[in-house]
Amino acid sequence: QLPNRVVAVAKAKAMPAAKAVQKEKEPPPQPPSVVYEPPSFDRKDGAAYQVGKMLGKGGFAVCYEGYLAGSKSRRKYALKIVRSKMPSKMEQKFQTELQIHSKMRHQNIVQFLRAFSFENCTYLVLELCPNGSLMDMVKRRKGLTEPEVRFYSIQIAGAIKYMHAKGIIHRDLKMGNIFLDKDMNAKIGDFGLAALLVTGRDMQTIRRTTLCGTPNYIAPEILEKGKKGHDHMVDIWSLGIIMFAMLTSKPPFQSSTTDEIYRRAKNRDYEWPKPETSNKYISEEAKDVVATMLEEAELRPDPDTIVQHDFFLSGYIPAPSEMTTKLRDYPPEGD
Ligand code: ADP
Repeated sequence: QLPNRVVAVAKAKAMPAAKAVQKEKEPPPQPPSVVYEPPSFDRKDGAAYQVGKMLGKGGFAVCYEGYLAGSKSRRKYALKIVRSKMPSKMEQKFQTELQIHSKMRHQNIVQFLRAFSFENCTYLVLELCPNGSLMDMVKRRKGLTEPEVRFYSIQIAGAIKYMHAKGIIHRDLKMGNIFLDKDMNAKIGDFGLAALLVTGRDMQTIRRTTLCGTPNYIAPEILEKGKKGHDHMVDIWSLGIIMFAMLTSKPPFQSSTTDEIYRRAKNRDYEWPKPETSNKYISEEAKDVVATMLEEAELRPDPDTIVQHDFFLSGYIPAPSEMTTKLRDYPPEGD
């Protein structure tokens, strides 16, 4: 069940949104050096967060590091900040995010801790992922090794299994939405496009909202009308794209126009780097498991089936501690 506080925040913000249709995109909010969480039923005296460095900007949010003022542990969090008055489209995205993200509890999903309003902004207190996104790392490293790809694919497949079991389709899985915690574990973040799997849902609406996202990761059936019953398989498609991109450092249908990306996705028009022109060796097992995920929706494997593929069974899977020491200290670009 959703904490009442979260529902209250979401509802309070719903009202002014309709009026607040803005033409110009406002810059993301800048928080003061201390933000105050108002008193609530489980924190009677409220709380104060010391705001630290900026972590990154998204479509409508900005994230800063923060810690509870006066706490001994100095445990750091990510404060995701959005203006309380947003254009209605973003408002809807943000409400979905609050409602769905706050219900998730899994080791490979960014933990949602609290939400509150302060000075015209809504703050989400999230588990901090201090090592950037999977996209940053894959770009920096120009692709990962197969053992590393196994490690991350198993973690992401586990999170997908959990979400689907709860009736949630993420719909926006991509490397830029997968963050790395202090131990270099993958954590799915950003539930802005997630949907509750309910029967009779308006597929048209879902199609419209999903098409606002990155075209590279979008499953072809989202573009086609009248396909029903395998909606959650769009996340498996995205995992296939993510695996291809982790292995080769770019998504399989990358093109200069969105239409071309869609056309290529529909025709499964992709190529693995050729051994003669690339120094990357990609195993047949890796190619095969990705191909199964890019099948028609009803043929795609579920997360349990994926991790039982030969790619995972016949190759080395690093221990978490190996990932930490090898990857975390890998010099970032420009260092
Ligand atoms: P939006 O929903 O507007 O796209 P994001 O959720 O992508 O916003 O967050 C914007 C940026 O903030 C991300 O690209 C990332 O750099 C950073 N960020 C988001 N969540 C976290 C987190 N839990 N830990 C660390 N950085 C984060």
